[in-house]
Amino acid sequence: AKESGRNTYVVFQAGMNELIEKRRALELDLAAGLERGEFQLYLQPRVEPATAAITSYEALVRWNHPKKGMVSPGDFIPVAEASGQIIRLGEWVLAEACRLLDSVPGCSISVNVSPLQFRHADFLPNLHDVLVRTGANPARLELEITESVLIENDQRAVSILDEIKHMGFGIALDDFGTGYSSLSYLSRYPFDTIKIDRSFVSNLATTDNAPVIVRSIIELGAGLGMKIVAEGVETIEEALFLAQAGCDELQGYLLGRPKPLTELQRGVDNAIAV
Ligand code: C2E
Ligand code: CA
Ligand code: CA
Ligand code: CA
Repeated sequence: AKESGRNTYVVFQAGMNELIEKRRALELDLAAGLERGEFQLYLQPRVEPATAAITSYEALVRWNHPKKGMVSPGDFIPVAEASGQIIRLGEWVLAEACRLLDSVPGCSISVNVSPLQFRHADFLPNLHDVLVRTGANPARLELEITESVLIENDQRAVSILDEIKHMGFGIALDDFGTGYSSLSYLSRYPFDTIKIDRSFVSNLATTDNAPVIVRSIIELGAGLGMKIVAEGVETIEEALFLAQAGCDELQGYLLGRPKPLTELQRGVDNAIAV
């Protein structure tokens, strides 16, 4: 038994080393990618159901890797977050979003902010710098944060969000309902927008609870004067339900997949006005 225990340990150790090697290689690759400008923002429309008008786009980063092709954020954001490279990447994303504003007249752009980025000492100064450097109008930019950046009784988070607000940016609470959601967050933090997580939308047709929860979130948002956006809308049925329930904006493959600016046509993929 003692022997086999040791063998297990050796195998485990070898697996760990391999993982650490892979991660280190990816970190170096990320650094080179940032250096070489291999990142690109895709834009996914947010659509007002009543008019089928695009109000804004979410910026979703892609890595156009010379060997691997287009790499999804799920494959590199966690590593960038763990290594701290998310700070540089996040600065690039923000500057690029500001630059893209000119190409989407009348629309705003939302940018995802990672938890590490949000807490970093450079975050607020960088927000200020990017506005000065690009001349972008902060009212046309919305910063998306997730519940995971909010900790109970967290005065620092409150002051960061207040400062962002004061600079003129919009603030959205992303993936609402998936974290340790607390209703007290909604009254304590200055959110303009709540994004209902995709999991609720995809469960609309298959569970009894999802429609009840979604209706309640929409009502809550309306009562608090916040805009409610549903994520991951893939079917006409979901879009109809959400529109009838009073959801302000829809986002999802039904309305448009994330695309590079060059491929964006004006208008939605599936024009629905409900
Ligand atoms: P997220 O912020 O929740 O973004 C929505 C994700 O859902 C995107 O995946 C989008 O392509 C996908 N999506 C949109 N509509 C649908 C739909 O109808 N069905 C399904 N199944 N999926 C849909 P993506 O682009 O792979 O991004 C994944 C996550 O990576 C994002 O989740 C966000 O957390 C993170 N991310 C993306 N770009 C950035 C960035 O610039 N900075 C940071 N910090 N994180 C980013
Ligand atoms: Ca988001
Ligand atoms: Ca989301
Ligand atoms: Ca997410």
